Amino acid sequence: MNILVVEDERNLADAICKILDDAGYRTEVAYDGDMGSRLAETGSFDALVLDIMLPKKDGIEIVRDLRHAGDSTPVLLLTARTATSDKVTGLDAGADDYMTKPFENDELLARLRALTRRSGDVQLDVATFGDLSLDLATHDLSCGERSTHLSSKEFEVMRTLMASTSRVLSKRDLLIRVWGTGSEATENSVEAYVSFLRKKLHHLHSGVHITTLRMLGYRLEDLGYLE
Ligand code: CA
Repeated sequence: MNILVVEDERNLADAICKILDDAGYRTEVAYDGDMGSRLAETGSFDALVLDIMLPKKDGIEIVRDLRHAGDSTPVLLLTARTATSDKVTGLDAGADDYMTKPFENDELLARLRALTRRSGDVQLDVATFGDLSLDLATHDLSCGERSTHLSSKEFEVMRTLMASTSRVLSKRDLLIRVWGTGSEATENSVEAYVSFLRKKLHHLHSGVHITTLRMLGYRLEDLGYLE
């Protein structure tokens, strides 16, 4: 399970990541609201832990933007003890829960468990775009009657593209989202998997294409049925 932690106090951010890593979660961290928002928009996290007071873009704005974009990823807000109005504003903006700093490790883990359980009940198990549907449990990509199985990396790349159709994803974005920051994979790996996926889309006779935007990256586009 992937958790994004957005917190500008580096010691606290790193401590939260350590707690989550030890509990078996995979974590990504962002130290400012801008980067946090960009990572969150890739749609590849099971939950977000967002501090409210952040440089560049605050936690409440991040939640609001995600919800406006139709993203229902569970959000746990971190608030300073005194800021009661922040809690209300945060929940109104679409956050699922909040926690007051400082907090106990067990409380953080318990709240995250509750949030991700809740999302498991309501989240769609199929992602769709154009004529495509991607089964998030079996990793089968389907178009009409045709269907093909995706390898785990193909699945992660496809899911990331499908979750971010409103923006261009750079090779670096995909590399970080799919392989993580500590991986030895390179942008060549991204190119290779995009090429595998293009063959599969062709095989499925899908009208959805992975478009290359020169110097920028990739975007999924629905060009309709082309045959
Ligand atoms: Ca802060």
